[in-house]
Amino acid sequence: MSKPEDNFETNAIRTQVAKSQFLEHSVPLYLTSGFTFEDAEEMRASFAEEKQRNLYSRFSNPNTTEFVEKICVLEGAEDGYAFATGMAAVFSTFAALLNAGDHIVSARSVFGSTHSLFTKYFPKWNIQTSYFQVNEVHQIESLIQPNTKILYAESPTNPGVDVLDLAYLSSIAKKHDLLLIIDNCFATPYLQNPIQFGADLVIHSATKMIDGQGRVLGGVTVGRKDLIREIYLFSRNTGPALSPFNAWVLSKSLETLAVRAEKHCTNALQLAEYLENHPKVNWVKYPFLKSHPQYEIAKNQMRLGGSIVAFEVKGGLQAGKSFFDSIKMCSLSANLGDTRTIVTHPASTTHSKLSKEDKLAVGITDGMVRCSLGLEHIEDIVNDIAQALEKVN
Ligand SMILES: *Cc1c(COP(=O)(O)O)cnc(C)c1O
Repeated sequence: MSKPEDNFETNAIRTQVAKSQFLEHSVPLYLTSGFTFEDAEEMRASFAEEKQRNLYSRFSNPNTTEFVEKICVLEGAEDGYAFATGMAAVFSTFAALLNAGDHIVSARSVFGSTHSLFTKYFPKWNIQTSYFQVNEVHQIESLIQPNTKILYAESPTNPGVDVLDLAYLSSIAKKHDLLLIIDNCFATPYLQNPIQFGADLVIHSATKMIDGQGRVLGGVTVGRKDLIREIYLFSRNTGPALSPFNAWVLSKSLETLAVRAEKHCTNALQLAEYLENHPKVNWVKYPFLKSHPQYEIAKNQMRLGGSIVAFEVKGGLQAGKSFFDSIKMCSLSANLGDTRTIVTHPASTTHSKLSKEDKLAVGITDGMVRCSLGLEHIEDIVNDIAQALEKVN
C-alpha cells in the first residue's frame, strides 16, 4: 500500500494497492473467491498467519483491503474490516466483542435496525441495553452497571440531527473502562474523526455518503488493532464480508468524497437557512445553524454541518402528507447520502416500528421531514420544497 500523506483528498486518492505486472493506472477489480499458493510450505505458513497474504475473499481481498486501508488512513485508525452492509458491521462488531450477560449503554436515537438489534435480538443472548437522551448526556453515568461493556452513539443522530459531544462521551468511557463505539455514518470521515476524540471503534454504513450515488451496499468498522482482531476472527468464520466488486466501487467513491461532501454541506446549509424563516415550518435543525442546541459542539468536532436537514411542517400528519404528495423533483425514499435530494417521513417509514413515546423521545413528530441534500443546483432544490410547502394548508 502506498505511503499516506497529510491531506484528506490526497490520502483518499493515493492510498492504493500495489500495481500488477501491467502497471495499470486505475486499480483493477479482483473478482476472485480464492488465491493460490506456491507450495505446501507457503500454504501452511499462510494459514498459520506467519505470512500476511490473501487466502480467501471471505477473509480478505485486494479490493476490500484497499477500501479498509483508505478508511483507516482517513479516520486515523490502526486497523479495520469491511462488511457487506452497514448493519453487518454494526451486528458483527457487537457480536464479536460481547458475551452473554453483558450490557450496553446507548443513545436513544440510533438507526432503526440498530434499535431492533438492541430491543429484539440481543435480549435473546441476555444482552440488555439502557438508553440515554441525546440532550441529557449527564444521565449516562447513572445507567452504567458492573456488566456494562460498550457505550454506543451516532452523531449527528438519525433522523433528528442532534449532536453528541464525542470528547465528553470518551471521558465517561475511559473513567468506567467501557469501549466507546461511534457510528460515524452521517458525518463521513471527511467531516468528523471520532478516534481523534477518544473513540475505540468507528462504524460506517458505506451505503450512504461514501458510495454517494445510491448504487452499492457496504459497511466498515475501524479502530483499535486488538479489537479489530476479534472482529476479524468472528467475521472470517461467520461470513459478512464485503464483495470485491462493491469494495472497488466504494474505494473509487472515496476519491471524490471531499468534493462531494463540500457541495452536499453547502446545499444543506442553504436549505436550512431558507427554511428557518419559512412561515409554514415550525422548526428546522441543522448542526451548523446557530439555532441548533449543540451548535458549539458541532463547530468544535465537525468540519462542516453534514448533508441532512430535519424540519417540521406546521399542521401535523395531514400537512406532512400533503407536503410529500406535492414534491415534484426530490425523491421520496428512505435512503440518504445520494447525489439526488431525498425527502423522508421518518414517522411512517424508517422509524415506524417505534412506539409513539419512543418516537417522541428521539424527536420524531408526525410532521417531521428528513431531507438528505443531493448535488442538484440549490435553486432547484429550494424551489421544489418551496412549492410543496405552498400547497400545505
Ligand atoms: C443506513 C445506516 C446504517 C445501516 O447501513 P446499511 O448499509 O443500510 O446496512 C447504520 N447506521 C446508520 C446511521 C445508517 O444511516
